[in-house]
Amino acid sequence: MSRYKELPPPFPVVTDKCEGIYMHDTDGNKILDLWMGGHFAILLGHANQAQKYGAERALEAGIHHGTLNTMQLEFAEIIQEAVPQLELMRLCASGTEATMYVTRVARAFTKRNVIVKAEGGGWHGGNSVLSNGVLPPFTKHKKIPPESEQTISIPYNDTQTTIDILSQYKGEVAAIIIEPMLGGAGGGILASPEYLKTLRDYCNDTGTLLIFDEVITGFRFRFGSIAPILGIFPPDLFTFGKATAGGMHIGLYGGRRDVMNTITTQKLFTGGGTYSANPMTMAIAIETLNELKSMDYMKLNRAGGDEIRDFLVKQTEVLNIPAYATGFGSYFCLHMLTDNIENPTPHHFMTLGDKQTEQDFKAAMLVNNVFTMHAGGALSFMHLTDETIEAIKQAYRDSFEMMEII
Ligand code: PMP
Repeated sequence: MSRYKELPPPFPVVTDKCEGIYMHDTDGNKILDLWMGGHFAILLGHANQAQKYGAERALEAGIHHGTLNTMQLEFAEIIQEAVPQLELMRLCASGTEATMYVTRVARAFTKRNVIVKAEGGGWHGGNSVLSNGVLPPFTKHKKIPPESEQTISIPYNDTQTTIDILSQYKGEVAAIIIEPMLGGAGGGILASPEYLKTLRDYCNDTGTLLIFDEVITGFRFRFGSIAPILGIFPPDLFTFGKATAGGMHIGLYGGRRDVMNTITTQKLFTGGGTYSANPMTMAIAIETLNELKSMDYMKLNRAGGDEIRDFLVKQTEVLNIPAYATGFGSYFCLHMLTDNIENPTPHHFMTLGDKQTEQDFKAAMLVNNVFTMHAGGALSFMHLTDETIEAIKQAYRDSFEMMEII
């Protein structure tokens, strides 16, 4: 308890080394990592064999060619086999670039300006154009900040309000970019099939493009897009990142051939980034994907995330603060709110989030040697032992007690 009280917020963890599911910090602590490589990118554990073999191959081949290279083609073939709707794709060095380029392509193809995204999270990287509605205060389709003038926000999973907003922009919307599962601070919420169908129908009726931002969801819940799990019609375009390269910097966007062809027919400025498709990223990605192909995602989703989430749901019932467990498959969040809300939405999580309590909770979990994000995290395949799952649950119990919220 005393150590917890002494921790200053924010509490930076300075790592020396990461191995398997553990971070080793400069104070000699061994911390169980629920953020895996930062931002949930690593599904095979830190310093895994796939990374090592990939790095060796790239060191032999030269880590940075700056040309179309064979590893990039090999990588693209694996990805295309997993996501056949990626008729054409382009590679870049981050999810931020991928969402920036894909919206540029959508605007050029449709010759329209407005991009629609979700409020209350709806994080698509650091793009100015897509920052609208990321942070409160956001009201309906209010335009903030100024550089986001061509971007409007819709409330995630609120079908009626979304239809009302979209109907004001008929003929103007180039694309709707949406995460099939909202990540980040408003997050851990799966899009309802009804909501996605509404978006798909609107896009079909109005010639608008539907983009799934799968930077988090892609290759995390199954080998490929999350779309088949949700049982909905595929989007027109996708973005991928994180898990596709096993811890290396990557962004990928693509989809319908006629839309992606806009890049060449209109000589659109997309790509050309210095590190796009560099052999080090590609080789590690190839090794990682080849291993992920045979992994048991059902087990990861079920025995991992669902088990912890079920545990968290039960815990929230006995906490003396308003808290809600969300998530899907191997991804889980615990939202602590300032008010009791029945059926809270992403909007509530963003506007009523008790940031101080969440920060204190993160510190308490650190004292119990677990690194969390949004009071939750995501599991890798390396987390799937009974001892690890129990250690995570115990750290939650101890942290609730330490904060005297149970
Ligand atoms: N889209 C989504 C859904 C994300 O979660 C993120 C990063 N958290 C990005 C895009 C941006 O990716 P990157 O950090 O690689 O730029």
